[in-house]
Amino acid sequence: MICPTCRAEGMRSKVYLAKFHYDDKIPQERYWDEDGKWHLHEFNPTTKGYECTNGHTWEETHTPLCWCMAVDEHGNWKPDAIFRG
Ligand SMILES: [Zn+2]
Ligand SMILES: [Zn+2]
Repeated sequence: MICPTCRAEGMRSKVYLAKFHYDDKIPQERYWDEDGKWHLHEFNPTTKGYECTNGHTWEETHTPLCWCMAVDEHGNWKPDAIFRG
């Protein structure tokens, strides 16, 4: 993790995880499917707040996707889906 503001300005800093928020109101689905492949379906976003030693702060919200959600209906890999905010 590099502070995006510091990177843009050519500065160096340490980045601290200042906030971690996970809401578990929707239960995860975890199972092995008919082919024996592991699925972990996460429906709750995780919000992380970062703070760098130059005082910049930012947040990221991310919901991890299972591999099966990253293929389209034809079985083609959709790498963009993995990095959905
Ligand atoms: Zn910074
Ligand atoms: Zn899955």
